[in-house]
Amino acid sequence: MNLFEESKKYIPGGVNSPVRAFGSVGGEPVFVQKSKGAKIYDVNGKEYIDYVCSWGPMILGHTDDDVVNSICEQAKLGSSFGAPTELELRLAKKVVELFPSIDMVRMVSSGTEAVMSAIRLARGFTKRDKIIKFEGCYHGHSDSLLVKAGSGALTFNQPSSPGVPSDFAKYTLIAQYNDIDSVKNLFKENKNEIACVIVEPVAGNMGVVLPEDNFLEDLRKVCDENEAILIFDEVITGFRLSEGGAQKYFNVMPDLTTLGKILGGGLPVGAYGGKREIMEYVSPVGPVYQAGTLSGNPLAMAAGFKTLDKLCADGFYSALREKSEYLWKGFAKNLEKLGINFCFNKIESMGCLFFTNEKVNSFSTAVKSDTKLYAKFFHEMLKRGINLAPSQFEAMFVSAAHTDNELDITIKAHFESLKAVL
Ligand SMILES: *Cc1c(COP(=O)(O)O)cnc(C)c1O
Repeated sequence: MNLFEESKKYIPGGVNSPVRAFGSVGGEPVFVQKSKGAKIYDVNGKEYIDYVCSWGPMILGHTDDDVVNSICEQAKLGSSFGAPTELELRLAKKVVELFPSIDMVRMVSSGTEAVMSAIRLARGFTKRDKIIKFEGCYHGHSDSLLVKAGSGALTFNQPSSPGVPSDFAKYTLIAQYNDIDSVKNLFKENKNEIACVIVEPVAGNMGVVLPEDNFLEDLRKVCDENEAILIFDEVITGFRLSEGGAQKYFNVMPDLTTLGKILGGGLPVGAYGGKREIMEYVSPVGPVYQAGTLSGNPLAMAAGFKTLDKLCADGFYSALREKSEYLWKGFAKNLEKLGINFCFNKIESMGCLFFTNEKVNSFSTAVKSDTKLYAKFFHEMLKRGINLAPSQFEAMFVSAAHTDNELDITIKAHFESLKAVL
């Protein structure tokens, strides 16, 4: 039986999240049966060294023994109560302890939900409706955020998806990443109307794009001057760049932070948190409503707590950095040997090769990458047992479980694959 063909009869596109369908690289998705360490295994028993890491969460590597044990132990006690638990308190305390700008945190079940709720809170708190996001930044699929810049007017944007009323999308203003003037202009044109600016402090959904010097600091300043809330969407960067996320890494403090992915240790979790004064605006202490039947789910809290506990161990991030640097250096040497000049953006354990010689620091430069060439490269890597994201505009992630041998195999495959496609 062809699982993909069969799945397409019952699930739209055969997948429960669109990029998984291999639409932008062609071919058929790998159906995964199990995973361990740096590897995933497909239903035919073929193994792959994995750099998708479930799109970020598996920073410890797949199927970590301690995380699995925590989940199993909790499962025996109960998987959902719909009542407060000590586990939630423990995880909340941990997040507050690790994230410098977070005084209080609310757990939800996905990154999308976290961002949607943070935006509602920012709007409720400031009593303003408009928000600023950056072209190429992804913040989940809620209506307000599924908007990118149309080629037309900056203020009245076209929604990116049918089903998002344009009347609604017009409250989402689009700025350009690493271009503080584009933000200042929007504030000027919409005086006292902007509730918040939301940004991925390192963009991880248009490939990997780093903030340039002072970009985050300037965002902080512009938000303060306009009494708008600054939201860092750290669904990827939280616990990835450091145990205190990008805010600790760059030492720039947002008012609100959204978390997800690593926070759940592979189970469905999101969270939003920030200054006490703002968070106390959330129901039941405040007027902004937000709720969830499975929020703070005990299995997810157990997996998340164990994951954070392990990445707080001494030397965790330096060891992960060392592995990542080794891989990035290997890649750089390969490019040099092949005499190609493609842009490789990286920070800590996240990286992305763009198939363009131009510097990539924004959405408009990211889309200059030759995505057809990426698709070929992707399949050459897959053939050699290396699993990358099936899209140019995603990050690759190194986990703590990747061994030196696996990194060496990857570097060799990278060389051969590039050579094959050029
Ligand atoms: C993945 C992601 C989200 C959405 O999280 P889901 O759990 O997929 O809903 C939001 N923001 C960023 C930056 C992300 O990378």
